Parts: sequence; structure tokens; C-alpha cells
Amino acid sequence: MTRHVIIGGGPAGMAAVEAIRASEGQASSITLISDEPAYSRMVLPYYLAREISEAHVLIGDQAYFDRQKVEALLGVQVQKVDTQAHTLTLSDGKTLPFDTLLLATGSSAQRPSIPGIDLDGVHTFWTLGDAQKVIAKGQGTPEAVLVGAGFIGFIVLNAMAKLGWKLSVVEVEGQVLPRMLDTQGAAAVAGWLRARGVALHTGAQVRDISKAGNSSKLTLSLSTGATLSADLVILATGIRPNIDFLAGSGIAMNGGVTVNDRMQTSIPGIYAAGDVAAGPDLLTGTSAIHAIQPTAVDHGRIAGANMAGKETHYPGSLLINVLDVIKLHCASFGVWREEGREVTTVFNPTRPIYRKYVWEGDRLVGAIFVGPIDDVTMLNDVGMAKGLIQTKKPLGSWAQYVRSHPTDLRRAYVASGVADTLVRQTLLGAPARDRDYRMNDLKPAPWNKAPHAALVGSRPAKYTELKPTPTPGIGKNK
Ligand SMILES: Cc1cc2nc3c(=O)[nH]c(=O)nc-3n(C[C@H](O)[C@H](O)[C@H](O)COP(=O)(O)OP(=O)(O)OC[C@H]3O[C@@H](n4cnc5c(N)ncnc54)[C@H](O)[C@@H]3O)c2cc1C
Repeated sequence: MTRHVIIGGGPAGMAAVEAIRASEGQASSITLISDEPAYSRMVLPYYLAREISEAHVLIGDQAYFDRQKVEALLGVQVQKVDTQAHTLTLSDGKTLPFDTLLLATGSSAQRPSIPGIDLDGVHTFWTLGDAQKVIAKGQGTPEAVLVGAGFIGFIVLNAMAKLGWKLSVVEVEGQVLPRMLDTQGAAAVAGWLRARGVALHTGAQVRDISKAGNSSKLTLSLSTGATLSADLVILATGIRPNIDFLAGSGIAMNGGVTVNDRMQTSIPGIYAAGDVAAGPDLLTGTSAIHAIQPTAVDHGRIAGANMAGKETHYPGSLLINVLDVIKLHCASFGVWREEGREVTTVFNPTRPIYRKYVWEGDRLVGAIFVGPIDDVTMLNDVGMAKGLIQTKKPLGSWAQYVRSHPTDLRRAYVASGVADTLVRQTLLGAPARDRDYRMNDLKPAPWNKAPHAALVGSRPAKYTELKPTPTPGIGKNK
């Protein structure tokens, strides 16, 4: 019986479990080792905002592991991988053999080396344990300083804003969301935040964090000379793949663990998935770490199928960032930095609305959206732009239409048959099944397929049969 071993009970590891079982049934043994419970980090901000309970964070429990015939060693850490002997050394002193191995160990939050960084009240927000500490500390309406204005930091900022906390942000770069938005999009977000009472300190570094005597208040001194007072400091200053335990294993690495399009590392039989893996990028084909949950799940499914002997190739992951900043919706996809490419932009500073499409010929390869969350057209278009980029559809004459009518993506989307292409795309050759785990065995409400079917079914046989209309607005009735 093949012995599959998975390290990491996050989304990548759990997706691999289900892919192995879907392919092999229960013919093999699976052992899952994780030093934390099996849970999803990305919902922690909703737990912080008290929108979900702690139980909602979990993505597997003992009953689930029993059903999946998985031996779950939770609270155990893997300390060493011997790629010659095919064994693992565990923190409980045991040695575990494997036939195939998946490294799904994710990443960890970095703590910058600043004086006072270990003071009580200074926290990262990456693990369930972090979230529990911040919830315990953040009773009432504390003053909080977020250090690092990146994607993850801003998801936490949004949760803190929902709780009514008094917020300041410190970012070393000259703009907020530097790896998600260009300067114009970031300026729109900054204006929105300032108008909502969030104090922004961009181009500033925290030099020192201190606490006077028995006071519970922290003081942050910034490189700009400003000082900030805080009950809580949240550090969101970057993450690093969990690869230290692989030192000396001979597994090739390039920032994360290098994998091919089957998620296999440089050592046959050993795979990597999720935040820890540098896998193929859908648009560039180069190796990239996309530390987001959709990539983790895709990686896990591909790795699991290959571990089960079903040769499966991954087209690559698309960089996706979608964010709610106090009801200002922000999204970016793919190659959103122009770097010499043609762009189409729309900017209305009053709402504010900002859009940018990045082109390669008649294909959309990247996009940025910023706009109020109640702007229905924008929310629809965010999904459509992602579909256009993901399917790499050549738009033909519709590309010119979108260039001159950039807020009307829908016609080009329908005409080019993107929805239909997406519906037919599967990673493992069959539509993905619902996960086997639901909190308290709750079942999701039945899905109303009618609106979706209308979009998919309205595809003309050939998109070139549709001619762009000369004016924006309501389309001609045929
Ligand atoms: C606050 C927050 C908000 C986020 N929001 C979003 C979002 O909106 N959208 C999005 O796409 N992504 C979001 N993310 C990122 C997303 O959560 C990660 O990309 C995802 O969790 C990666 O999954 P993974 O399975 O690769 O790793 P992880 O979820 O990190 O799981 C890996 C597990 O392996 C364990 N482990 C590590 N080393 C060892 C070892 N040696 N031995 C045993 N166990 C080990 C870890 O402790 C961990 O439990 C967010 C993350 C955070 C923290």
C-alpha cells in the first residue's frame, strides 16, 4: 500500500488529501502532519471582526479525517526530511517513512528587527493563535497601528475598521498597497482612508516601539519624526516560505521550493504546493510564489492527483488580489504593471473610480479596479476582467470596443465566449466536487444556476458575428 505523507494542514494540504482520495479511493494510506489545527488563515479577519465563530475557521476535524481515512498528527512538527532514506524526523522524536511526500508548509509572518518589537501588545496577524491574542487584547475601541500597508495588512485593517478601532498605518514605501496597485490606484485608496479618519504615514519607517513605566500604551517613533500612540500594534511586514526544515535535504529552492507543472520538486516522489511552492505563473510561464488561497488549492489538487499516479499538468496560477477597504473595492489581476505595454485607463476622482486594463495586442493580460463597493457594474466587471485574463481570449475587434468603452466589458465578455470557456476548464479533468468538510455538517444553500446559465448560454456561435455598437449604453435589440 502506497504511503502518502502530507506536511501542512492548510488549504494546499487539505486539497491534496481530497485529490488523492478522488483518484485512488481508499487504496493508499495518508498521514497528515501539521503543527497547527487544520484551518484557513484567510478567514481570520472575519473571526477578528466577530462575523464568524472560531469553529468556522477550521477546514477539517477528526470526523472528517476518519471519513477520509487520514491519520492526522496535529501539533507535531517535521524537523528534517531525508530524501535518500525517504523518512521524516518529527518533533515527538519519531521517524516516519513515506513513498510520496507533499510539502504544504505555507509561510510565516516576518517580524522586523525594531527595538521594542517584542513588547506586549505588538502582534503579527498570521496564525489562529495570533488572532486569539489580538481578539483578547482588542476589547473596546483601542488605538491600533498597522505596520505595513500590503494586501494582508489591509484585510486586517478592514476588520479593525468594522470594529470601530482608531487606526493609523505606517508604510515604508511611498504608497499604500505597493504590490497590488499602481500609484494612481493607491492614491485613490489613500484619499478614501484619510476621509474615513485613518491616519496614513507612507514613506515612513518605525524606528522604535516603547512603553513608559506601567502604562499599557505603546509609543511608536517614526523615521519622519512623528510619534504614534497605540494600544495594539499589528505587524504586516511580509511573509517568508517555511523551508528552513529542508536545509541539507537536496531539494532545489529558489525563494520557495522549486516545482514543475506537476508540482514535483527536484526529487522524484516529493511534491510541494501552496505558499511554500514556486510554481508556474499562468501568464508568464516563469516560476513564481503566489501566496494566495486559490493558488494553494490548485497546487494541492494538482499535487494530490500526481501523488496518486494520475499525471496532471498545471497551466499555472494567476496573481489575484481582491480587497475591501472600508467599502472601497480594490482588485488587481495578472500583469498589471504596464512595463511598456499598452494601457487603457478610466479615472473619476470624485467617487473615486479607477480602472486600468493592460494589453498585449488584443488580449487583456492585467487589470486594476478601484471603486465603491455598491457600484454594481464595477463588481461585475471585476469578475469579467479576471475571466478574460485567465482564459487569454483574443478579443479581435472587441479589443478596440473595450479601449473606447472601458466601462462596458460585458459585451466583449459575452461575445468572446469567456464564460463558456471557463465552465469547460477543469484542473483534474472533471468538475471540482464540494469539499467533504462543512462546519457542524452544515450544507450550503442550493445554487441558483439560472443567472449563470444565461451568461453561458447566450454565447453566439462565433463572437465575430457580433459587431461592436458605435455608442456605449443599451445595446440594439435584434
Ligand atoms: C490574515 C490573512 C488574510 C488572508 N486573506 C487572503 C485572501 O483574502 N485571499 C487569499 O487568496 N489569500 C489570503 N490569505 C493568504 C492565504 O491564507 C494563504 O495563501 C494560504 O493559507 C496558503 O495555504 P497553504 O496551505 O499553502 O499554507 P498554510 O495555510 O500556511 O498552511 C500550512 C500549515 O503547515 C504548518 N507547518 C509549517 N511548517 C511545518 C512543519 N515543519 N511541520 C508541520 N507543520 C508545518 C503551518 O503551521 C500551517 O498550519 C490570507 C492570509 C492571512 C494570514
